[in-house]
Amino acid sequence: MNHHYCPLCYAEISIGAIICPACGRNIEDWERHTPYYDRLIRALKNPHSEVRMGAILSLQNHGREAAAGSLAECAMNWPIDVVQGMAVVEAIAKLPDGAEKTAALRQLQQHEAHAIRVAAGELLAKKETDHYGHST
Ligand SMILES: [Zn+2]
Repeated sequence: MNHHYCPLCYAEISIGAIICPACGRNIEDWERHTPYYDRLIRALKNPHSEVRMGAILSLQNHGREAAAGSLAECAMNWPIDVVQGMAVVEAIAKLPDGAEKTAALRQLQQHEAHAIRVAAGELLAKKETDHYGHST
């Protein structure tokens, strides 16, 4: 990976830069004082797809339901990136159930990619089945 982006303004910067030449903020200081979860949420908007993918997987492992909305937004912001979109659906699936998760899946049902709309719809249907209980 030859590129590195400022986590605050997403300008391309050299690796190891402490002060961003574009926005002038102290990156090292920001990273030290910003909670890991907040940095992951911010990384979902990074123009570098590898950074976003890393954040999606980390948020999946973090298990905070509140991340569902930001994850869905990430998928919606890059509609042609189906691989990333599917990773978002998988990550949301592993988060605890709640209103935020349901809203995120409903949003993903509006996604441009058919595969993502279907995957989100299946998860919503499964949640309803779980809610009403299995009859078999
Ligand atoms: Zn910057």
